[in-house]
Amino acid sequence: MSARPPGDSTRAVRAGVPDARQGEPLLPGPVLASAYHLAGDDVHGVPGYLRHGNPTWEAYEDALGELEGGEVVLFASGMAAVSAILLSLGPGDVLAAPHDGYPGVADIARDPPRPARGRGAARGHRAGGPGGGGARRDARVGRDAVEPGPRRGRRPGRGGRRRRRPGRRRHDAGRPLRLAPLALGAACTMCSASKALTGHSDLLLGYVATADPERARTLREWRSRTGGIPGPFEAWLAHRSLATYALRLERMEANAAALADLLRNRVDVRDVRWPGVGSVVGFELPDAEAARAFLAACSLVTEATSFGGVHSSAERRARWGYDDAPPGWIRFSAGVEDAEDLLADVARALDAA
Ligand SMILES: *Cc1c(COP(=O)(O)O)cnc(C)c1O
Repeated sequence: MSARPPGDSTRAVRAGVPDARQGEPLLPGPVLASAYHLAGDDVHGVPGYLRHGNPTWEAYEDALGELEGGEVVLFASGMAAVSAILLSLGPGDVLAAPHDGYPGVADIARDPPRPARGRGAARGHRAGGPGGGGARRDARVGRDAVEPGPRRGRRPGRGGRRRRRPGRRRHDAGRPLRLAPLALGAACTMCSASKALTGHSDLLLGYVATADPERARTLREWRSRTGGIPGPFEAWLAHRSLATYALRLERMEANAAALADLLRNRVDVRDVRWPGVGSVVGFELPDAEAARAFLAACSLVTEATSFGGVHSSAERRARWGYDDAPPGWIRFSAGVEDAEDLLADVARALDAA
């Protein structure tokens, strides 16, 4: 009999959980410290200060590394992870990105943050919605868009990790759930953990995964120097939430499928879009007024941006002003409520609108 590889829920529950030790918790609690005991002169390779390392990050990084099949460097947010990759690219590096991908990514690539005299500052208005604002969807991102980053190779303080488990990562050759970009040959992957991965709408985190130890080292160094570090408590919450990731995804997806079904059968709803995976469903109501009335009439659907959380949420996308979404376009993120309750609420709100 060939050994069947563990399923997604099993892997998510076990990821990064330390070996059993009598009297110890299953998942150690967060280590909340800005400075660690650091006596004497032998201070190299031991993080003495939070910006350079934290065991709670490392436990979560190990967990994600198991799922990704590589090394993971955790950042304060998805955009901090994106910035670490894009701003450390050199001239001549090419970024190919979809024009309708996350606007914040194209925005950083086209108009990287720079000192106050730069053109970004001259425009000075880039803040906006959750997409980082302002990105024009038609603009192209290419060679010229990527600015040289700070020179590599200068040593920051010690960014080294206290403890690695070299045996584990490559052997597990684990995929992240459902998709394995590193196994397919990607140099690195970026993920915003702020969405379904953590899933409770209470924190931001992001990470880069790579199979190249040298790239991981560079990214850790970048993080130490620029300070885009995650908080240990957020990292711990995220690790705790990882155990239910596959479970939440399953329910959110089932709810999204049922919702798409319901919407497709209504004459007052147009252009229902659900790609068959994930929690996000898009659809068009006749106009902005109908969309506002629908959102106001829902009682189980929170009007909020972002997606992937346990609470169903929705928003009228055109309210941000930078999407080319029609005025009545709703982006809906299905949560983990009971499908019958959710569908009844949506149907009632549509009737009211
Ligand atoms: C949310 C998101 C980001 C930004 O992540 P934050 O954690 O909000 O900084 C980047 N890319 C994609 C695809 C996202 O969905």
